[in-house]
Amino acid sequence: MNRLQKIAQLVRSMDLDALLLTHEENMQYATLFPHLEGMVLVLRSGEGVCFTDSRYIENATLVMAPQGYRVIEPAGSYPTVGTIRDFVAEAGIRTLGYEDEKMTVAQFEAYRAALPCEMAPLGGALSRLRQVKEDREIEWLRRAQAIAEKALSDLLPDIRPGAYEDELAAKLTYLMNLGGSEGAGLPIFVSGKKSSMPHGRPSHKAIEPGDFVTIDMGAVVNGYMSDMTRTFAVGHATDEMRAVYATVLEAQAAGLAAFAEGMRGCDVDKAARDVIEAAGYGAYFGHGLGHSLGLNIHEDPRASRTYTGTFPARSIVTIEPGIYLPGRFGVRIEDMVWLAPDGKENLTHFPKELTVLG
Ligand code: ZN
Ligand code: ZN
Repeated sequence: MNRLQKIAQLVRSMDLDALLLTHEENMQYATLFPHLEGMVLVLRSGEGVCFTDSRYIENATLVMAPQGYRVIEPAGSYPTVGTIRDFVAEAGIRTLGYEDEKMTVAQFEAYRAALPCEMAPLGGALSRLRQVKEDREIEWLRRAQAIAEKALSDLLPDIRPGAYEDELAAKLTYLMNLGGSEGAGLPIFVSGKKSSMPHGRPSHKAIEPGDFVTIDMGAVVNGYMSDMTRTFAVGHATDEMRAVYATVLEAQAAGLAAFAEGMRGCDVDKAARDVIEAAGYGAYFGHGLGHSLGLNIHEDPRASRTYTGTFPARSIVTIEPGIYLPGRFGVRIEDMVWLAPDGKENLTHFPKELTVLG
């Protein structure tokens, strides 16, 4: 079943006549066409229609027509609310699903005022479909992860005292792009005291002996961004740094072991958090254990204290515990793992024993 058929089945199961997609990620999910501007409609009959403009029409037709979509450029200009109104009226659509989790209030009001039909919120239905990964999505993440690991390996000799965080982050991005990544923002690249900031930004700070360096990075293939974090010591590490690192690594192993089909996100989180709490660092692990990912880098299901949803077969999650001691240092270790049909598979292969660089 292709994506159009899958979404048409969803439309029927929700008893809608059609579903309107205007959010870029959802349109890409439905059509495999990235960065589209326009609208995509999926009808319960299995018919798919894309409205776009002259900038995209040729390429969008090449990609979408073989999947069964009609790709239409409205006469004159860009597709508008009026384009959808006319289509809805002609097709006799009475109930139209819309992306209540993505559409702005202004867009919703404009559609509601113009359309001669009922509008029904989609809720999390498409998100739940996106949680169940296809083989090709995992393959794209696998390729992205290989690009990221090669780039990090190539960068390691440069991570030494005197090198600057921002320049290393820029080089890492360049190496990933050179390796075939579609390009992404700068990685998280923090050293020394700054490594206690889980989402700190790289700055013009020099690496010093005795620093921990935390790098949280991903490459992108077909819109799918991989996600890995590694923490390295530079020059030397104190006993306390080694103990904290060992605790995070042990917590990660516990999280990886707990992740399974049908497990609640909060229970996977707890498996890792218990290790950190037992070591006395519970107050220093503020964020959730992990998140799913796909066309968005943070998707449901989550492994967090508050997430009571469960992991379906073929879902993917990151397992990324951390300990952050404010003003001193921090450690995070992150892998991506998925529930393959023949068993759990960790897609991250980069070594994670404590490594002292420089
Ligand atoms: Zn990450
Ligand atoms: Zn992550």
